[in-house]
Amino acid sequence: MKTNHAATQSRRRYRARRAAGICTQCGHAQAEPGRPMCQACRLMTNEATRKYQRKHRIVAVVLNLCTQCCQRERMPATKWCGVCAEAHTERQRAIREARRAQGRCARCGGSQPCEACRAVYRERNRRYRARLRARGLGRTA
Ligand SMILES: [Zn+2]
Ligand SMILES: [Zn+2]
Ligand SMILES: [Zn+2]
Repeated sequence: MKTNHAATQSRRRYRARRAAGICTQCGHAQAEPGRPMCQACRLMTNEATRKYQRKHRIVAVVLNLCTQCCQRERMPATKWCGVCAEAHTERQRAIREARRAQGRCARCGGSQPCEACRAVYRERNRRYRARLRARGLGRTA
């Protein structure tokens, strides 16, 4: 019952501050136009969520968990678990296909295939092959 009461109270406070144009977070400063918080609080909450996400990700890396869902184990040599990797690949593939079907650049989504993206693809391919070669040599040597 106590928690309910507290929740109602904070909601009421939130609404009163919001109506008065005062920051709902600190209750002191003027809220930014169209926003529930003052600039300082907005930046602070942003920073807090960013930090939280970063920490989350570091924990995932240390525990060898997927950095996407932070729940399942990572696949070897990737940052993601099989489920997230597959979902991502599938999503990317769908996006690329849709763009190609519209005659747009599959990479940046520009109005037509562009040279800049082609160069990126070439460079990525080159690096990929170089990596494979290096690995092959490392194993046989
Ligand atoms: Zn504030
Ligand atoms: Zn995952
Ligand atoms: Zn492009």
